[in-house]
Amino acid sequence: MHFDTIAAISTPMGEGAIAIVRLSGDEAIGIADKIFRSPSGKKLADEQSHTIHYGHLADPSTEEVVEEVMVSIMKAPKTFTREDVVEVNCHGGVVAVNRVLNLVLKEGARLAEPGEFSKRAFLNGRIDLSQAEAVMDLIRAKTDRAMNVALNQMEGKLSRLIGELRQALLETLAQVEVNIDYPEYDDVEEVTIPLMIEKGTWVKEEIEKLLRTSSQGKILREGLSTVIVGRPNVGKSSLLNSLVQENKAIVTDIAGTTRDIIEEYVNVRGVPLRLVDTAGIRETEDIVERIGVERSRQVLKEADLILLVLNSSEELTDEDTRLFEATEGMDMIVVINKTDLPQKIDMQQVTELAGRGAIVTTSILKEEGIDELEEAIAKLFFEGTLEAGDLTYVSNARHIALLHKAHKTIQDALAAAEGGVPVDMIQIDVTRTWELLGEIIGDTVQDSLINQLFSQFCLGK
Ligand code: GDP
Ligand code: ZN
Repeated sequence: MHFDTIAAISTPMGEGAIAIVRLSGDEAIGIADKIFRSPSGKKLADEQSHTIHYGHLADPSTEEVVEEVMVSIMKAPKTFTREDVVEVNCHGGVVAVNRVLNLVLKEGARLAEPGEFSKRAFLNGRIDLSQAEAVMDLIRAKTDRAMNVALNQMEGKLSRLIGELRQALLETLAQVEVNIDYPEYDDVEEVTIPLMIEKGTWVKEEIEKLLRTSSQGKILREGLSTVIVGRPNVGKSSLLNSLVQENKAIVTDIAGTTRDIIEEYVNVRGVPLRLVDTAGIRETEDIVERIGVERSRQVLKEADLILLVLNSSEELTDEDTRLFEATEGMDMIVVINKTDLPQKIDMQQVTELAGRGAIVTTSILKEEGIDELEEAIAKLFFEGTLEAGDLTYVSNARHIALLHKAHKTIQDALAAAEGGVPVDMIQIDVTRTWELLGEIIGDTVQDSLINQLFSQFCLGK
């Protein structure tokens, strides 16, 4: 395959002292040679692959020296993209690194799109589709934990598991072939059906496990949508600000909010939160009154977590009660704020209204209780669900959709096998399941089932 040469700033996370401009493509080394000046006068094209060289970059039109650099050259195919790759290590400043980037663009490289290096790795066959998608997720990952999920996936964990599931299906399909080839032996069917049920059940259960992780995966990737609700003046905006200040705000590439509400991304103890202050714009309006209980319930329904803020120094009002009603059954934490003021709120009543929701008391003014609130958020999200780092999560929408389909077809196959349907009929659903799982890792070649059956089981034909 042939692609043009792409370039981008590809410095790893964080503000390092070194910045890297990476080039990939047939012209990568040629472009670098146009601007690289080594003390010995040697050309990069003549150097060994996977070596690093000290020198300066110069603008060929003026011979003006632009940067002092170290340049790594990696020749195809043993590179991340399987193309020639050049990495220019320069001083980390924004100005310096942009100057280098502009220079290589001027000399013929094209600015890479986000994830394009990974895309090439995929197109050139170095990584499978699920790994490529993981790289994309990695680029977008908003917290360390979300990044770990992406990393695991990129390392091929999901691919390996999918591979095992497909292998199990393949074994039953091979058995079916034997069955069809030797119909005169009755006992073959007696072996085939139980094997199919055994393997099929295992595959079905593993798919279910993967699907169970999918909502957590999505949340890790996109952030837990957290809505802060409460009457005017209870301290919603103060709470939002204090969560944002205490926690590293997450840089997001999602364009400015479309609705007139305030949204902030923060990382609270590994939980990425997309915080929404419902009253961000209209401080004085009662959101419930303004848009009505039904409508607000609908807005709230989209939330993964509700932070319901109450004022400790006032008695509960009908409005508070209505908010409890509107958020019934949702994951909720009740925040009783302004504990620095004399208490008027009836805690007994709050406990009853909160049901199984956690209650945290805060004085945002005095910066008290925020830790406890963060603790409660992390507990709610991670308790009993997301411990082991070696779980394989599915977070990609395409993967989830395919897993749902595969789950349906393997269920059909199992129902047929248990219902005494002829084995060659069941075969269709098993094959379909095998194909659907294959699509997750980008292996969809039509005849590959036949090839694999041949290569792995040497069916005597
Ligand atoms: P919102 O309308 O719910 O967003 O409330 P704000 O965050 O705008 O806060 C309303 C007022 O309450 C502001 O004057 C805040 O400074 C004040 N406030 C917020 N938290 C506390 C607190 O814990 N104690 C006290 N005494 N005042 C607070
Ligand atoms: Zn506010």
